[in-house]
Amino acid sequence: MKPRDLSTFRQDERSGCGPLIAPLSEQTRPLRQQVFERVRAAGLIPRVQVAKELGVSPASVTTLTQELIESGLIEEVSAQREGEAGRGRPAVALGVRAGAHLVAGMKLSDREHTAVVVDFAGNLIADDVIARSPGPMALPELLSAMKTLLARVCAKAGIDMRALTAVGLGVPGFVDCEEGMVLWSSVLIDRGVPLARAASMRFGLPVHVDNDANLVTLAELWFGAGRGLSDFAVVTIEHGVGMGCVINHRIYRGAKGLGMELGHTKVQLDGALCRCGQRGCLEAYVADYALAREATTALNWSHKEGQPISVLLESLYDHAKAGNTAARSIFRRAGRYLAVGLSNVVNLFDPSLIILSGERMRYDYLYAAETLAEMEQLAIQTGRPKPPIEIHAWGDLLWAHGAAALALSAVSERLLSPGRDIAAQ
Ligand SMILES: [Zn+2]
Repeated sequence: MKPRDLSTFRQDERSGCGPLIAPLSEQTRPLRQQVFERVRAAGLIPRVQVAKELGVSPASVTTLTQELIESGLIEEVSAQREGEAGRGRPAVALGVRAGAHLVAGMKLSDREHTAVVVDFAGNLIADDVIARSPGPMALPELLSAMKTLLARVCAKAGIDMRALTAVGLGVPGFVDCEEGMVLWSSVLIDRGVPLARAASMRFGLPVHVDNDANLVTLAELWFGAGRGLSDFAVVTIEHGVGMGCVINHRIYRGAKGLGMELGHTKVQLDGALCRCGQRGCLEAYVADYALAREATTALNWSHKEGQPISVLLESLYDHAKAGNTAARSIFRRAGRYLAVGLSNVVNLFDPSLIILSGERMRYDYLYAAETLAEMEQLAIQTGRPKPPIEIHAWGDLLWAHGAAALALSAVSERLLSPGRDIAAQ
């Protein structure tokens, strides 16, 4: 490759300089969308505060909020002025009109499918879960399972499925969120499946799909520990190792929506074989199938056909707790590789917090004090404190919540996009 000649940098006098940002992109979102997002994030907020926070005139906020009220997306709520209990006129605050829209979020995994229905303000209305036998499914089979679950959770919420405005779906694997395309997933037999389009046709509703690690990150950003943080990372350890990264309050997805595959970053040249077909991936040392592979060898267990991997891991954990050195060394080794992975995250992104999330976080050996100390040693030594690490062993329900957040954000973006007459909806 030839080095670029600096003289070609400027074509002519009037070519401008500075980043060329596409019109109406993330940085230049319409003001009414920004107003709506402020109101949604605050819960309840006076108009004057919205104006102050966005640095615009109260008059323009009044015009925009009037539009949003008329279109039924937000509403005025009387709130008692602070320190004036029982006196004077109550102040008026703005809040999202919870009943304006309902959306569903679903997480599809190897063990079970989980679903939630939430209202437009993000309140949980109903949830449900169906167990499934492990292994990848054909698309028609998966769509049927999803439709059954969707019908069940809607029945629990006391609504017809057609009352939903959108559905968010989370699947493990490589997902192009923009296209709604699943390039590879452990829950699907085929590769390159246009899941969003197929599910949308089956349900008769708009469907949005994302990688499940991004959705658990979205759940933390919308409902959890990440709400007030501009930059943080979530590392998930489930059937595989995933990661979601928030940069400036937004999920970072990469140019093709396929970034943040921490599980497939290499921690060993010519190392252990990974599910992706390559060698030396972090996942091949930390994920549950990696632990199970070690367990069957070291402890001389045979993994029975059809036996869930979780049963094997639970047994391995019980042996480790009971003092079995081989079992302990398996978790310890996985923990050391995890430390390598986490230190790389710290060195690359400098997050203000790392959240370790997922079913496997019950196995506390993975994040024992030695593991965290090792991560600190491997991260660059700057004299500044390393980011804190929080362990969130929440179940699939949280992930489904993230899928609902994906649907909510798609709905509000669609309704508030430029050129749409929101009053007419
Ligand atoms: Zn891999």
